Amino acid sequence: MGRIVAVVNQKGGVGKTTTSVNLAASLAAQGQRALLIDMDPQGNACSGLGVFATPQERTLYHVLLGQASLEEVIRPTEVPGLFLAPANTQLVGAEIELVSELARETRLKRALAKLGNATYDVVLLDCPPSLNLLTLNALTAADGVLIPLQCEYYALEGLSHLLKTIELVRGSLNERLALDGILLTMFDARNNLGHQVIEEARRHFSGQVCDTIIPRNVRLSEAPSHGKPGILYDVGSRGVQAYIALAEELLKRWKIDSRPLRSTPAGAAPTA
Ligand code: ATP
Ligand code: MG
Repeated sequence: MGRIVAVVNQKGGVGKTTTSVNLAASLAAQGQRALLIDMDPQGNACSGLGVFATPQERTLYHVLLGQASLEEVIRPTEVPGLFLAPANTQLVGAEIELVSELARETRLKRALAKLGNATYDVVLLDCPPSLNLLTLNALTAADGVLIPLQCEYYALEGLSHLLKTIELVRGSLNERLALDGILLTMFDARNNLGHQVIEEARRHFSGQVCDTIIPRNVRLSEAPSHGKPGILYDVGSRGVQAYIALAEELLKRWKIDSRPLRSTPAGAAPTA
């Protein structure tokens, strides 16, 4: 299996799903075989890719409860090379139903191990806004963590709690867990505060902050309502280009060779 990366921040609305969807799509566009696992009962990664799992369909809930394999629930998406393991509100129940089960933090890890070697180059885990059992499963299964931070006041609040949780997981459940990067999102160059957050993040976490900064960009927020990742909605937009640059930066960091770009996906509108 390739690199498994949990996209985590217990703070809501900081850009976890936007990052998961657009980074996964950008990795696929760069020739990687990418798997996005929706770990959030809100199912936003699914709707952002135009996928809706009905209550009758098997989803991540069944995987975590041992009632289905990951392979059975994974489906292709509109982006060649990008695959999705869906979730829906049913996933809320998994946490309660797993309470009495043994090794409940390692459910996802074991499900991924059964996928076999080298099935995917990169696996992204879009986590819910909570440090709950679902996030713990993600942290236990992952090689690295990517933490989106919104360039707003209070951005760094709660970060020390998250870093402590990562430390605890490293000490007990997953000693190889690395910090793959802190990603600054929704940056507005006209706003002084954004510049301050960048400065502060770089001062506190030098070397761990991704060079790529994701700008606030309306095309990124519009794309999910069309059920498309940005790359199929407006590939020329600044937001989408930033995620393409992030994919290149992370591939270098993970020492995964980037492959020739896939041709521009059909339907991508070339704009500035
Ligand atoms: P949750 O904690 O609820 O899972 P999240 O951390 O996954 O939220 P997103 O859903 O990705 O956050 O983003 C929150 C909102 O901000 C969404 O409406 C999204 O479209 C918007 N958004 C995210 N990133 C950007 C951006 N770079 N520019 C403009 N809007 C953005
Ligand atoms: Mg989300």
